[in-house]
Amino acid sequence: MIPTAAHIVVIEDEPVTRMALAGYLGSFGYRVTECAGAEAAELVLAQENPDLLIVDINLAGKDGLEITREQRARSEVGIILLSGRTDDVDRIVGLELGADDYVCKPFNRRELLARVKNLLRRTAAMRQFTRRVVHFAGYSFDTSARHLTDTAGQTIHLTRGEYEMLRAFVLNPGVVMDRDRLLATITHRQNGTNTRTVDVMVKRLRGKLGDDPKVPRIFGTSHGEGYVFTAPLS
Ligand code: CA
Repeated sequence: MIPTAAHIVVIEDEPVTRMALAGYLGSFGYRVTECAGAEAAELVLAQENPDLLIVDINLAGKDGLEITREQRARSEVGIILLSGRTDDVDRIVGLELGADDYVCKPFNRRELLARVKNLLRRTAAMRQFTRRVVHFAGYSFDTSARHLTDTAGQTIHLTRGEYEMLRAFVLNPGVVMDRDRLLATITHRQNGTNTRTVDVMVKRLRGKLGDDPKVPRIFGTSHGEGYVFTAPLS
């Protein structure tokens, strides 16, 4: 079955290619959002949970590889790269960074459509197994809706950055996350944001979740490396 209501975000700075692609996919019933670059895409991704990203590698500003790296750090969204014929190395790097597939320009639209359908089938199957609400240390956390409650059912407010970081932690339990990786999970970084911001945010999360850094139950510190989510998940 084709998930016809699937939401596809096309990130491409060449308007003709972008609009043609959006029109073509739209004609098959997909919901398509067009973005001319990383900045526009980040706004969409902060609000929505698309099924698939089609990302041009060569973008002005933050390129498609950087977008792939950042998105893969925070979600399992399907990613197809668009690459120029001469981008061999970039294609390989893109796959290593977690892109699922790629097509070379000039591409055959039907080939792209076949890859889109194929990837949507795979991600839909995977999403069924992706747990949305996790429980740890008495807290319930909805990983897809920025909603955290404590044992008493009281909501704990999280900023978007805190939510994104907490989600990255619970999706990687027991894995030491270095500061760069944690920083990459935050989509809206302000000027001057650096890896020390990660320490500040972990401190805030610890404060909100009552996790004593001297005897951590949730966020362990791996000295010289980063942080690790240590609470058992259920
Ligand atoms: Ca381009």
